[in-house]
Amino acid sequence: MSVDRVLVSLVLPVYNEAEVLEQTHARLRAVIDPLPERFLIYYVDDGSQDETPHILRRLAQEDPRIRILTLSRNFGHQAALTAGLDHAEGEIVISLDADGQHPPELIPEMIALIRQGYDIVQTQRVDVEQPLSFKRWSSALFYRLINVLSGTPILPGAADFRALSRQAVEALKSMPEYHRFLRGMVAWIGYRTVILPYRPQERLAGRSKYSLRKMLRLALDAIFSFSLAPLYLGLSLGIVLLFLALLEMIYVLSFWISGNTSRLAPGWSSLMFVILIVGGMLMVLLSFIGLYVGYIFQEVKRRPVYLLRKDTE
Ligand code: UDP
Ligand code: MG
Repeated sequence: MSVDRVLVSLVLPVYNEAEVLEQTHARLRAVIDPLPERFLIYYVDDGSQDETPHILRRLAQEDPRIRILTLSRNFGHQAALTAGLDHAEGEIVISLDADGQHPPELIPEMIALIRQGYDIVQTQRVDVEQPLSFKRWSSALFYRLINVLSGTPILPGAADFRALSRQAVEALKSMPEYHRFLRGMVAWIGYRTVILPYRPQERLAGRSKYSLRKMLRLALDAIFSFSLAPLYLGLSLGIVLLFLALLEMIYVLSFWISGNTSRLAPGWSSLMFVILIVGGMLMVLLSFIGLYVGYIFQEVKRRPVYLLRKDTE
């Protein structure tokens, strides 16, 4: 693979980014024009309602490396990224946000790392000293929760700013699940991964396109598609209730043994017993149904059972 022949695809999801697109593209050009690799730039228009489609078309007339993918409506960031990964050509695919928060200046380093033999260059946000904002503490809380719940460790502050080798892209393409949390999926596929820290920058212009609703939906997608832990909650609660029933039995028995049954309120023992036993059994049986649903859920995701790694040497 000689240097000049390597094809690198950049994937940028855009949703109503008319205010920043020209700046973003100019900044991207400044980084990639001096590089020896060939580039394709995929702008994925995620159903923008502003001037974005116009600007993209104009940019594409001036720069033949631009490819525009237009989604039929707003499907969301993760779907737009997926569309880009599905279509991107070349040995290396790099995804980054279009709002300038992911510094394209890191692209040469990312390419160099992939060429050294890494399959995934995952960037990690290192936060500059700033008053604790809502975005930051909600993100910190989210990563703590997902790492407790999920069997796949997910890097806190991981961004959807990463470079992937062709085999990592193909691995992601082999995961056809509908609810997509790419940061988790990238961790799930394995392969040789290197972490590249970066300082996030201010948005060039415009407002965040991630509404609170979209953030919550992403968090739910992440938790429920990477963890069956919530299902075990019912099982544990049921077991606790059954254990309480056992304690109650011992307690009542102790009155019988010591001949103090007259001190027991009439009806209390049987009532408590029925409540605890029935409650516990319901919980346990419900969690069995839940677990079957969980297994079905994992089956219908049709994730591959294993992935092979080819060695570059
Ligand atoms: N984006 C998208 N579809 C959406 C929301 C966002 O394609 O429904 C794009 C957006 O244009 C940007 C990237 O995803 O390029 C990240 O979004 P944003 O900067 O608004 O998120 P934040 O940085 O605030 O988390
Ligand atoms: Mg942003």
